[in-house]
Amino acid sequence: MCQIIMCAKCLKIRESSKHHLLPRRFFGSNENSPLLFLCRDCHTALEKLIPQHHKLERDEYFLIAVEFLRESAQQYGKVLQFVHRRKR
Ligand SMILES: [Zn+2]
Repeated sequence: MCQIIMCAKCLKIRESSKHHLLPRRFFGSNENSPLLFLCRDCHTALEKLIPQHHKLERDEYFLIAVEFLRESAQQYGKVLQFVHRRKR
């Protein structure tokens, strides 16, 4: 079943591809792993930044995601300023 979301990276309305912040291959699927909702393209781009064969610390996975999203957060801030200016 597909879910339509606003991708946290590109901010487009797309079908969701859930990213487990803590990779299931190392942490298992029962681990309480926070989810990040991305589109398929952005999910692929994020996965490329994550080492496939060796396990990192939990915080390192969170930092990779934060870095990946940083630019989008700035973009989102600009959109919000634009909307607020228009409302005055
Ligand atoms: Zn996206």
